[in-house]
Formats: sequence, C-alpha cells, structure tokens
Amino acid sequence: MDQKISHTKVTDQLQRPLRDLRISVTDKCNFRCRYCMPEEIFHKDFQFLPKEKLLSFEEIERLTRIFVGMGVEKIRLTGGEPLLRKDITILIQKIRQIEGVKDIALTTNGSLLEKFALPLKEAGLDRVSVSLDSLDDDRFGYMNGRGIKVSTVLKGIEAAQKAGLGIKINMVVQKGATDPDILPMARYFKEAGITLRFIEFMDVGNANGWELKQVVPSRDILEMINREMPVEPVEAEYFGEVAKRYRYLGTDTEIGFISSVTQAFCSSCTRARLSAEGYIYMCLFATEGIDVRSRLRDGTTDEELTRYVQQLWSNRKDRYSEERLSATQGLPRKKVEMSHIGG
Ligand code: SAM
Ligand code: SF4
Ligand code: SF4
Repeated sequence: MDQKISHTKVTDQLQRPLRDLRISVTDKCNFRCRYCMPEEIFHKDFQFLPKEKLLSFEEIERLTRIFVGMGVEKIRLTGGEPLLRKDITILIQKIRQIEGVKDIALTTNGSLLEKFALPLKEAGLDRVSVSLDSLDDDRFGYMNGRGIKVSTVLKGIEAAQKAGLGIKINMVVQKGATDPDILPMARYFKEAGITLRFIEFMDVGNANGWELKQVVPSRDILEMINREMPVEPVEAEYFGEVAKRYRYLGTDTEIGFISSVTQAFCSSCTRARLSAEGYIYMCLFATEGIDVRSRLRDGTTDEELTRYVQQLWSNRKDRYSEERLSATQGLPRKKVEMSHIGG
C-alpha cells in the first residue's frame, strides 16, 4: 500500500469542500429505535451483513488516509451501534495515527459506554455524541424498543465525563412520542452542564413511516425553552457547522438544533459517508451508494482510488433537504436506511 498520498483538496458542484467523513462500522444494533430500526422490519430473522462484507480495519484506515489527503479533517464513527464492532478501539488507534486527522468522534446509544469510555479515550477518541430521547424509563424503553433503562445511558455519560471525553447529547424530537421530554431533558442537561442537541425527526430510509406532521420545528422547541430558561445565540465556529447553537444566559452551557427538515443546511454540507460494507454515500438521503469495497480488493492503487473519490466528490450535487423544503411530504424515493450509513 502506498503510504504517501498527494494532498489535493476538492470542491463539489455547489462549491462545498470535503471536510468530514462519517464511517459506519457495523449495521447491527442492540436497540430497535422506532424512528430508525423498527422491530417489525429489523426482527430476529433480519439478515445483517455477513463478516466478509464488512470493511476490515485495514481497509477503513486506507480509505480514511485517502479522504484525509483530499481535505477531510474530522472523522465520526457510527453505525448501527459502533460499540458492537469488535475491537473498535484498535480502529481508533489506527485513525489517530493518520497525519491530518484533527478530530475523532463517535456516535453511540450509550448502552455500552460505561464499559468502553476509558479504553476509547486511551485509544485516541476525542468526543462522543450520546443519543438519549427521554429521561422517563417507560417512554425511553418504548422508544428504544428493548426496554433499556435511562440509568444505563446516564452511567455511560458519567463514565465518558470521567474519562475526559468531550460529550454532547442528541435527542430526536418526534411529535406524539418524545415531545413531552423536551423540557425535562433541557433542565437536566443544563444542570449537568452538558450540551443537548435537538434533532428534527427525519425521513431517513423507508422503514420509519415518517410524516411531516410528526416533526416539531426547532423554532418551536427554542421558544418553549427560552420561555423558561432564557438563551442567547452563539456564533458558528466553522463553515459547515450542523447545529445552530444557543447558550443559557449567565452560563457556559449550550443547546443546539439540527433542523434538517425545517431549516435545511445543504449549502454548507461538507460530509461524505462510508457504509459498513464499503459504499460511499454523498448524502444522508442518497438512493444508492458507490461501491468502493470491490476496488479496495481488486488491486486498485491508492492513486487510482484517490482520483476516483475526487471525481465522485467533484460531481456531487446532492441537496435533498433543500429540495424537500419545497415539497409537502418527504420526496418519494427509495433511500438508504439510517442504520446502514449511520446518520
Ligand atoms: N446507534 C448510534 C446512536 O444511536 O447514537 C449511532 C447510529 S444512529 C443511526 C445516529 C443518530 O441518528 C442517533 O443520534 C439517532 O438518534 C439519529 N437518528 C436515527 N434515526 C433518526 C431519524 N429518523 N430522524 C432523526 N435522527 C435519527
Ligand atoms: Fe440503533 Fe442508533 Fe438506530 Fe437507535 S438510532 S436503532 S441506537 S442505530
Ligand atoms: Fe448534506 Fe444531504 Fe443532509 Fe443536505 S440533505 S445536509 S446534502 S446530507
């Protein structure tokens, strides 16, 4: 394998640079969140990817080097549940050694974080985003589809703090499901001094029965919180920052809003996605991915792979969320499932 790869930055058809790579390391999960992997579809006979179809750590490392050569600075590991991937800390060590990687983050449901927080930090992980939709055991158990308790995730969050990992909480807001949790979650994480981000329920994939009327617009959530706990806006730190940020007055604690449905941010989208089986997706709502696994396994050189990925990015025109804003429902097309490419 060639170790040195020419550093050529690329922009796409809408002048967006490539900065972030989200890597899904497994399509499996120990939760069955209703908005992502509903049990009716992802049941006990569901066929997940066999091991030989998953990219190996060496293959992920090789592709990551290639992406870093094209301008990627931030890596996010996701899934499925990334902590289910065997020896995930070894992958993190490998990515940490790649010159040019400035930030490594991991998105997790938190159920295994108590055990993994310290080894993750020691392997070189910078930050975790922990998904938690409710502080109410009944509602959380129902949402995660497996009756997992809130305390399991809270212990994981505590362990991450102790280990010195950066930490943010992601809450998906779905009308009729998690909207009663908005204020209790805001109060709890304000008190804890941890950033909470509200994510609008999205029409990712085809399995979750998304309807526009189930979306609570971020601006309504902001108003609700601001009435009880006043906030002020915080300037974006860099081009392509996904969340709009606010700070509780008189504190350092922030909240964020990821408003993919009501305030699309495609014009600054700098993210490419790599699925666990080695397909590249140019958009979270892509219809299909581009197979790079076969190229990784057929003797294609790093130079050839670099040129290929550069070509893909420079032809990119995706802006699904902006297009959806002008449609009344999700755009009717077949999309890749969230658990496949990891959000
Ligand atoms: N299993 C990990 C977790 O849940 O954090 C990582 C993968 S999960 C697919 C990544 C993120 O996508 C989570 O924060 C999850 O809440 C979010 N997500 C899943 N389905 C969603 C949907 N339909 N709308 C909005 N966010 C969603
Ligand atoms: Fe699993 Fe994460 Fe999807 Fe929930 S959101 S089912 S935890 S992959
Ligand atoms: Fe990026 Fe696609 Fe999301 Fe727009 S819809 S922000 S292009 S991932």
